Amino acid sequence: MPATRIWLKNPLAIFTANTLDARGGLVVEHGRIHEVLGLGQSPATPCDHVFDAREHVLLPGLINTHHHFYQTLTRAWAPVVNQPLFPWLKTLYPVWARLTPERLKVATQVALAELLLSGCTTAADHHYLFPEGLEEAIDVQVESVRELGMRAMLTRGSMSLGEADGGLPPQQTVQQGEVILADSQRLIHSYHERGDGAQIQIALAPCSPFSVTREIMQASASLATELDVRLHTHLAETLDEEDFCLQRFGLRTVDYLDSVGWLGPRTWLAHGIHFNPDEIVRLGEAGTGICHCPSSNMRLASGICPTVDLSNAGAPIGLGVDGSASNDASNMILEARQALYLQRLRYGAQAITPERVLGWATRGSAQLLGRNDIGELAPGKQADLALFKLDELRFSGSHDPLSALLLCGADRADRVMVGGRWRVIDGHIDGLDLNALIANHRQAATALMAG
Ligand SMILES: [Zn+2]
Repeated sequence: MPATRIWLKNPLAIFTANTLDARGGLVVEHGRIHEVLGLGQSPATPCDHVFDAREHVLLPGLINTHHHFYQTLTRAWAPVVNQPLFPWLKTLYPVWARLTPERLKVATQVALAELLLSGCTTAADHHYLFPEGLEEAIDVQVESVRELGMRAMLTRGSMSLGEADGGLPPQQTVQQGEVILADSQRLIHSYHERGDGAQIQIALAPCSPFSVTREIMQASASLATELDVRLHTHLAETLDEEDFCLQRFGLRTVDYLDSVGWLGPRTWLAHGIHFNPDEIVRLGEAGTGICHCPSSNMRLASGICPTVDLSNAGAPIGLGVDGSASNDASNMILEARQALYLQRLRYGAQAITPERVLGWATRGSAQLLGRNDIGELAPGKQADLALFKLDELRFSGSHDPLSALLLCGADRADRVMVGGRWRVIDGHIDGLDLNALIANHRQAATALMAG
């Protein structure tokens, strides 16, 4: 951890995700934010370095709360470009079943690099594919996260309900319950870090109501309580899923969630679109988090998440890019822009401000992951920062710097710091050969389609 003391001085604009005046900038020491300075203030004691931030808009590092890194290999694939969720999944499952450790490695590197360059410092991934030979998928991901020096919530996903038993995925992509639970325990014991500054965390994440059994939902909830880790799944994404739950379980999605012991503050859900008013109240009272994935919801025409109603009811709201087969980008700052615009269609322009959306992408997302050491700029928080410059053509003529980030479509951070270390400098990831990575990734994507 860098011992130096650095003053990020007088930023052009700063968003703290709280009410602190930080116009004088931040002092970072030992990987944490040491001081937050108001307008005209200077650090209490001298700093080793001063970073002149007068051309930068400074944000807490963005936090992505739902992704499927492996899907970067199946972006913009013609057979599913115009499909909604269920046929989209059924067409893609056999392709994804050909994933190997090498392919997953390069897919993960690409997703993480893209996220990092967009100002994201912490990423959650939902990995639920463990075909033969890929039993150590999460181990592969841990290695990539460490190489890039980011933070991650890697979820041990699962599928246990194959076509033969009335589920959606083909048999070769599902695993036995005992295998899933044993591996979940192994991963938590091997990798899950607790407390402030954790780099790697593990959560349990059965994929969706139509791809896992009731038993694995219940067992995952018990194990998560026993080992104190979080729970994640897809819920209420489409009406197809609601129909499936009604037919198979005789329950709506939230009733099903409740019946398997998941309705509580340990859980965060991806999408959360099709809820009735009573369900919104119940989710809010339970403190269950919702990850809004606007691009994916628009691409698959799934619907619009009732973010403001959920938030008013008490449910934390975060943002996620979702997997790259339904977005197809892994860009967190552009995702915030999408959230701003999609949510304005539901709640109007005045209710959905850039600050509100950036709050979802930072503090809200941190809440979903159960963390209070990241997601805002305040003394004692981790020094996870994203700095954007407004010197590109797209920003020319803009006035309010913070609004310009979203309204003009910022897509790449100039600098990104994770735990006090610069990971992106002048728009480039320190120590990464991006051209070589793209070449390897293209080759892997082509090979995956070839079989
Ligand atoms: Zn997803």
